[in-house]
Amino acid sequence: MQKEKLIIIGSGPAGLTSAIYSARAELKPLIFEGQTPGGQLMGTTEIENWPGAEEGLMGPQLINKMREQAKKFGARTEFKTVDKVDFSDPNNLKLWSGEEEYNADAVIVATGASARWLNLGKDEEKYWGKGYTACATCDGAFYRDKVVVVVGGGDSACEEATFLTRFASKVYQIYRGPQEKMRASKPMQKRVLDNEKIELIFNKNVTELRGENKLESVELTDSVTSETSELKIDGLFMAIGHNPNTKIFEGQLDLHENKYLKVTDNTKSKVPSVFIAGDCADFRYRQAVTASGLGCMAALDTEKYLSND
Ligand code: NAP
Repeated sequence: MQKEKLIIIGSGPAGLTSAIYSARAELKPLIFEGQTPGGQLMGTTEIENWPGAEEGLMGPQLINKMREQAKKFGARTEFKTVDKVDFSDPNNLKLWSGEEEYNADAVIVATGASARWLNLGKDEEKYWGKGYTACATCDGAFYRDKVVVVVGGGDSACEEATFLTRFASKVYQIYRGPQEKMRASKPMQKRVLDNEKIELIFNKNVTELRGENKLESVELTDSVTSETSELKIDGLFMAIGHNPNTKIFEGQLDLHENKYLKVTDNTKSKVPSVFIAGDCADFRYRQAVTASGLGCMAALDTEKYLSND
């Protein structure tokens, strides 16, 4: 079995930026692309806030460019998922993809997070990117003068609803519970309640997505009476939380209660040869550009660690 100098787990902006930097430093990283090669950006449309991309860039286009850039400097990619790790020996990190074992001197964990979906099955795939999205920052500007719905009662949902009023003519925020159960902080709730463009709807679940080729309306089911109704809308923004992709690191690295990875000194884990970057540890900023920045930092820290060996 060949021992790799550096394995990067994850191929979103954090993983691919760490690959570009570490490949340029001649660490010849091997990237495991994972279950969703490219990560969350593959599900977004145009990215208008990527610095320097004045004309905008499509999410998949940005990922492809990053991947090619990493490969140009000598990074290798495997379209495989790492499903088990053993970091008990920092000098010989072990990873498995199925039956295949890989060993490495250093690992960068950049496994990201996945937006929670409503669990409406095929409907969600059908309308994903066609009116159904999970990122107001990415897609809000496409809903100028349109009617949109934000689902969720946490801080993210309130933040997204408020943000969307910059563009949309009307924003419905739909929460499945009663007002007193809303998890959002009181100032966030007040901001939403005080905003004339936002209408908060309580005790409702979105139970069906409808429309010809794009999302045109949603079915709402009352969580108390089970009565259904239809709401005409142009876009639906999910804000029901994210799940960090960190399951395989349980028992190997330190995790917060919310399952995000713990980092010290920006990118360090409790294992000296394992570094962490991007949304798998970041439940605050969650932007492509911040994930990229953290990927760069993880690569520089890894390079420093390996050169001191
Ligand atoms: P969150 O606090 O976990 O809230 C998730 C919301 O989605 C809850 O209202 C939850 O309802 C609802 N929900 C979950 N599953 C659902 C489903 N299947 N169908 C319908 N609704 C569902 O998540 P978050 O808002 O993303 O926040 C995550 C963390 O980041 C929090 O600690 C938050 O404070 C923090 N954050 C802070 C800021 C800020 O300070 N500016 C901004 C954003 C996020 P239930 O309550 O009924 O479970």
